[in-house]
Amino acid sequence: MTMMATMNFMLTNRAPPLLLRQSPSSILLRHLTSTHHHYPPSNTPETKPRVIILGSGWAGYTLASRLSKSHYDVRVISPANHFLFTPLLPSTAVGTLEFRAIQEPVRTIRGLGQYYMAKGREIDLERKVVMCEDLYKGVKFEVGFDYLILAAGMKSNTFNTHNIQRLEGVVVFFLKHLYHARQIRNRILECFERASNPTIPKVQRDRLLSFIVVGGGPTSCEFMSELHEFINQDVASWYPDLIPHIKLTLVEAGPGILGSFDQALSEYYLRELEKKNIDVRLNTAVAGVDERYIENEQITVARFKDGSEVNFGTMVWSAGLAPVKFIANSNLKLQRDRVTIDDYLRVPGTKGRVYALGDCAVNPADNLPPTATVAEQQAIYLTECFNKYYSDFDVLDEKNSDTEVPLPGPVVPALMPFNAISFLNKLLCESSPKFQFKNRGAMASMGFGGGVTDLKSTDLPSPKTTLSGYASFIVWRSTYLSKQLSLQNTLLIPMFWFRALVFGRDISRF
Ligand SMILES: Cc1cc2nc3c(=O)[nH]c(=O)nc-3n(C[C@H](O)[C@H](O)[C@H](O)COP(=O)(O)OP(=O)(O)OC[C@H]3O[C@@H](n4cnc5c(N)ncnc54)[C@H](O)[C@@H]3O)c2cc1C
Repeated sequence: MTMMATMNFMLTNRAPPLLLRQSPSSILLRHLTSTHHHYPPSNTPETKPRVIILGSGWAGYTLASRLSKSHYDVRVISPANHFLFTPLLPSTAVGTLEFRAIQEPVRTIRGLGQYYMAKGREIDLERKVVMCEDLYKGVKFEVGFDYLILAAGMKSNTFNTHNIQRLEGVVVFFLKHLYHARQIRNRILECFERASNPTIPKVQRDRLLSFIVVGGGPTSCEFMSELHEFINQDVASWYPDLIPHIKLTLVEAGPGILGSFDQALSEYYLRELEKKNIDVRLNTAVAGVDERYIENEQITVARFKDGSEVNFGTMVWSAGLAPVKFIANSNLKLQRDRVTIDDYLRVPGTKGRVYALGDCAVNPADNLPPTATVAEQQAIYLTECFNKYYSDFDVLDEKNSDTEVPLPGPVVPALMPFNAISFLNKLLCESSPKFQFKNRGAMASMGFGGGVTDLKSTDLPSPKTTLSGYASFIVWRSTYLSKQLSLQNTLLIPMFWFRALVFGRDISRF
């Protein structure tokens, strides 16, 4: 790649302490392959252990904001310079909420040592450096660490389905990052504008007004509900002639939707989708996407494994997770594409210097699912370990270079979803040095006034029950509103909800 600069330089405020213990040959090699750029230039003496966090999602951002900055020099490396509040992402794809109201910039974390907009590429455990690649010019650089936290999440899995990757961003869209939601919103509006054009051939209009959502998990179901509501409330007002031509299809390879929810709730959600005239196809896997010509018009067609086909203009693909390249290429032990960790979130064999959490990690003993509640609770646990226990270990002392960081003492699990009442955790839970996951229940929204909440196996001190309809809608909105990390978003979000309800969603495309 021509964009890939070969320049290789060390990012040091101070030499990474463990580099001092390298062999002379590795030091020579590093100097031969590097320029002598030092960024940022500084003569700051080494005083605090450096914690490098790869990723700024639920795990990385939570940890970076909570780690004690008086004990640690905390630095974040991530291609995203913001934290994304993922549960609200489907709403932004149709304009119920605006994009900027569901993110928090990384740089505003109080006391953060540095943030680098880059991707981690390789880890050198021997030298305790992580090789990174800048996002814009592909410039490679190395950052030394005393502790490394892997929180790089996962990416959408295409399962090598024919043409999905090639047509991504054109007619096929993932729903994982903010820019995905922006792409989807623009594409939906483009489809409606093109379909309203008086010269549009029928075959093309029908294709543009056909939307397929792939996957039966909460993200797909929530996006489909949002799309339906947008069509019902806004498209019906501004493009009334198009309504009879719109086709919504949800495809799931398994026998049901919302598989992780109580069965009665999954069935209820399915019935609600069907009542809205959404064509839900269960036990139907996508075999591929083809581009064909019909009546001289180029058409995109989804082929299903049962032999059926649907022409479409927009496909939202949320069918599974795959490891990011950095994790897949690492020499770390993986289990089902996730880094294997122990009960203390440590990567085995790294003497307590490398930790992994969130979607990119799994402890084979508990096999927790890749969800925000797991990532957040792991980050809170690890913060406690670092702030309370690991700060007593002098990782900078060369005498300790081969010493395992002692295991932590008891940590109270983060059962309560809200910080303001976290004091209750001590009363409700037993503490343990090991990470303990607490089930806070599960929710899936269904647009205004709808949704499902599963509290059947929750550890919260609440009735073990399920909710649907308005009750679930109120729980969903109030929970996510009260979980916002800034006052700004806590104010903006209800304002956008109000705007969508009273004035409708914005349909401008730019
Ligand atoms: C639309 C949507 C809705 C969801 N709704 C819910 C919900 O309601 N409840 C729930 O519990 N879960 C939900 N989830 C799942 C939840 O968002 C994830 O489980 C959670 O984000 C995992 O946190 P994480 O920090 O491990 O990964 P992420 O939040 O994905 O963050 C990973 C971070 O790593 C960065 N990164 C990627 N590659 C590299 C690299 N090479 N080097 C450095 N950084 C890198 C990314 O840019 C990102 O900042 C939802 C997910 C989506 C997509």
